[in-house]
Amino acid sequence: MALTAADERMIDEVRSLLRPEQRLLFITGAGLSADSGLPTYRGTGGLYDAGRPTRHGVSIEEALSGWMLESEPEVTWEYLHEIERAARGAKPNRGHEVIAALEGHFRSVWTLTQNIDGLHRQAGSRHIIDIHGDLRAILCTRCDYRAEVADYAHLPPLPRCPSCGAAARPDVVLFGEVLPTRKLATLYRELDAGFDVVLAVGTSAVFPYIAEPVLWARSAGIPTVEINPSRTRLSDAVDFRIAAGAAEALDRLWHAYRGGPGTP
Ligand code: NAD
Ligand code: ZN
Repeated sequence: MALTAADERMIDEVRSLLRPEQRLLFITGAGLSADSGLPTYRGTGGLYDAGRPTRHGVSIEEALSGWMLESEPEVTWEYLHEIERAARGAKPNRGHEVIAALEGHFRSVWTLTQNIDGLHRQAGSRHIIDIHGDLRAILCTRCDYRAEVADYAHLPPLPRCPSCGAAARPDVVLFGEVLPTRKLATLYRELDAGFDVVLAVGTSAVFPYIAEPVLWARSAGIPTVEINPSRTRLSDAVDFRIAAGAAEALDRLWHAYRGGPGTP
């Protein structure tokens, strides 16, 4: 899908805001990884239809909840395996690469992501707050066992801790679970230090802690940008809305900023 003239104009306006001494905050969601071929959670091309019950007769949110993991871990793991299979072998796309490359061109670039696919890290970003965790980090639900796995191809339907035998789990935030305290502390520390531009990329921003930094920036008069082909709850709040795919829009922003091909 080519960028429209309106998107290109908007990207050039965003580019004109950018200075090397600034601090940028990217807030990313499943839409960024959609350009790596990963299904989003809901909506077009999503892994789950809103409201459709799972074959266990519960909603996907219940199947992927902390409560279900405690009571029937095999149910939660069935969907964890499904999500991991859908993500297996995915590579960072141009959007992840641009965000990582920008870290070398600004005073500071932070990425607050809801994605659990590890693609920001794989692309080389260093300042990442992966607030929902990472699927490839496996923990024991009882002892302090922890391991990194490349994928779930060799994991059994219900993986168990090799040292104590209790059910294992990925280090991700399941529905109904609290957010990790240390990651939240990092987020608030960085928000306190202030940002000059806040960009929301490929997220429906349904969670308050994802929408709030954008709304806070707007109320503080800090420029806000949304990159998303569909409208979201942030669309009317942001100063600049780029109605395009993440990889294409970020690639164009990179070229506009660095003066490479694609610069008008
Ligand atoms: P979401 O599925 O609710 O929303 C995705 C958004 O991306 C939508 O607004 C959609 O319009 C937009 N989008 C689709 N294609 C795009 C593209 N090419 N470029 C830019 N935007 C595009 O996702 P969310 O807001 O991240 O929240 C979903 C929850 O599900 C999160 O908790 C997240 O942890 C989890 N999740 C993670 C992954 C992943 O790790 N890749 C994938 C699916 C869901
Ligand atoms: Zn254990």
